[in-house]
Amino acid sequence: MVVLVTGANRGLGLETARQLARRGHHVLLTSRDESEGRAAAAALAAPKLDVQYHRLDVTDAGSIAALAAILARERTKLDVLVNNAGVGSRGCNPEMARRVLDVNFFGVERATDALLPHLRDGGNIVMVSSQMGELSVFGPALRSILSQPDLTRDALDELMRSFIRDVELNRHTKTGWPASPYRVSKVGMNALTRVLARELSPRHIRVNAVCPGWVRTDMGGPGADRSVEQGAAAIVWTALLADGGPTGGFFRDGIALPW
Ligand code: NAP
Repeated sequence: MVVLVTGANRGLGLETARQLARRGHHVLLTSRDESEGRAAAAALAAPKLDVQYHRLDVTDAGSIAALAAILARERTKLDVLVNNAGVGSRGCNPEMARRVLDVNFFGVERATDALLPHLRDGGNIVMVSSQMGELSVFGPALRSILSQPDLTRDALDELMRSFIRDVELNRHTKTGWPASPYRVSKVGMNALTRVLARELSPRHIRVNAVCPGWVRTDMGGPGADRSVEQGAAAIVWTALLADGGPTGGFFRDGIALPW
């Protein structure tokens, strides 16, 4: 199978790429920093793993279009897209809200839409999310909008933009948002998972979110309770779901989570 992993120069993305390549899959390792990504891909390819490097910054429409053009030119069909790239947030201010949502929500949406024509029918899309993105941290009005089974993509995009506006106007807690752009971005990602699962069901593409647990990476920090190998194994499980497997779900270690 051909698997594309975003944000794979370090952390969970790199380990996910390694585990998938060790299982014999052809891995397209992508990163926003070309020299770091090339070095990571070369290190994996050295013990003869089937890994190829491409640049991809999910916030940069030009970089996404360039990768889509390469896939088209090389007639590469992906079996799996792993949306792993992400950033954390400390505190809550307008700049942080814009940046985190741009990578973790709009970046994922942008990259997925552009790569979709290159994904095989019957393939898998994995959204690397977090239990930090539980709906319970939202006010009741937002919770009810986000959990509507027929939530549209436009309504979801607008809701995410309204969080940024509310932070800019310093009224986000009054309007029911948690004071954490990271949490908001991951709830948005979980909602996007359900929207995409619905949109892509005619193509039999499964779209699932996964929580890797609290993992010892640069983002998780050294005090986290899980190794990067354990966290990546949860992602790999979701990436390799077979025909007839679940779609629109949220999983950790293969077990369905509420959100
Ligand atoms: P990490 O070590 O900080 O790695 C994050 C990766 O995302 C890096 O490769 C980074 O690239 C990349 N990235 C950031 N912005 C990007 C962009 N605009 N375009 C492309 N790549 C970009 O974090 P991690 O722990 O491995 O996290 C991976 C995923 O797991 C994230 O989505 C995170 O939210 C999720 N997660 C992590 C934990 C945890 O405890 N670690 C728990 C739950 C969920 P650079 O090196 O260029 O910055």
